[in-house]
Amino acid sequence: MILELEGLTHRYGDELAVDDVSFGLEEGELVALLGPSGCGKTTIVQAIAGHVRPTAGRVRLRDRDVTDEPPEARRVGLVFQESTLYPHMTVNENVAYGLASRDIDARRREELVAEYLELVDLRDQRDAYPAELSGGQQRRVELARALAPQPDVLLLDEPLSALDRALCERLRDEIACIQDETGVTTLFVTHDQEEAMALADRLVVMDDGRISGDGPPRTLYESPPTPFVASFLGRSNALPATVVAREPLTVALGDREIQLCNSDRSPPPGTPVTCHIRPEDLSVRPPGAAGTDGTTPSLTGDVADVTDVGRRYDVTVRLETGDELVVEAVDDPPQTGERLAVDLPRDRIAVFDADGRKRERSVSVPETEG
Ligand code: ATP
Repeated sequence: MILELEGLTHRYGDELAVDDVSFGLEEGELVALLGPSGCGKTTIVQAIAGHVRPTAGRVRLRDRDVTDEPPEARRVGLVFQESTLYPHMTVNENVAYGLASRDIDARRREELVAEYLELVDLRDQRDAYPAELSGGQQRRVELARALAPQPDVLLLDEPLSALDRALCERLRDEIACIQDETGVTTLFVTHDQEEAMALADRLVVMDDGRISGDGPPRTLYESPPTPFVASFLGRSNALPATVVAREPLTVALGDREIQLCNSDRSPPPGTPVTCHIRPEDLSVRPPGAAGTDGTTPSLTGDVADVTDVGRRYDVTVRLETGDELVVEAVDDPPQTGERLAVDLPRDRIAVFDADGRKRERSVSVPETEG
């Protein structure tokens, strides 16, 4: 393991910013630390870099406990959201500065600077000053400066947040290429789930100082371990339901009873649960028309709103229970006020109990509709 956090906890006075966080990065992994503003991401980065001394827990780099060591004793490369380039130094000098504290002779230093400027495609700008560079070029200089000392781990804290969308996507791809080429173990911090999913091999999703999910992006997206992951990673409709039978797990959802799979974790009848289902997994049809396969359960409701968001329509359906569901429609959207049936594919419904524990997933059993 290149980086390992064990029970990392940090308080700022009474504020518990990071609460018992444990995860690790294997050699060469690119992991995104993803979560909304204020969930503790930067505090974790600062604890790894040595700028924050955690209240409790340990930080290990290459199996060495560095928790009590100063930043300069750790081989960590850092890139932040704001530029930290020295304005009075050239590109070359800025990158060389990152090597100043290392015991490297002048000739080797020159070679490394040239090598990493080449890597970020900025060799021709070596004598430019930061003010003469575009925002994207400045980011690339910072990447070269962080990488040239060949750190054990590269920490990128929201490095693209200050850039416009197109540049952000381009640089995101460049970072992926550079990471691939150098094989540097990387922790990429972001609040942007699309950015995280596009870039990372693995996501560590944070909610209010704690880890809410840890796994490959596609797995977390398709089988969210918590309600928070279900709604933060992509979009999710949350419908209140009640367990009516345990084997197989059957829930009352709106005016229907929907049978899910057997689970040894099924809660007892009467337990209130929340069913999460993604807008893209739902489809609508006139109530009388045949459903997709004749066995998919459906709920009926009235179209409350249709929003054209460019590549699709978001159709909000108000169910008879008063709950609302957002359904994605690619073309031919319904009219506001229209009565519709919403098909809910059973294998796309995730059920959580009141504590946010997952209680089931999907099925291929016959339906019991009420
Ligand atoms: P953001 O992306 O907005 O920076 P974050 O996920 O990186 O958010 P942190 O910056 O680590 O989160 O902050 C976690 C919590 O700790 C927040 O509630 C924040 O207000 C608080 N916090 C952060 N730094 C300090 C500090 N120096 N003093 C007091 N509280 C702090």
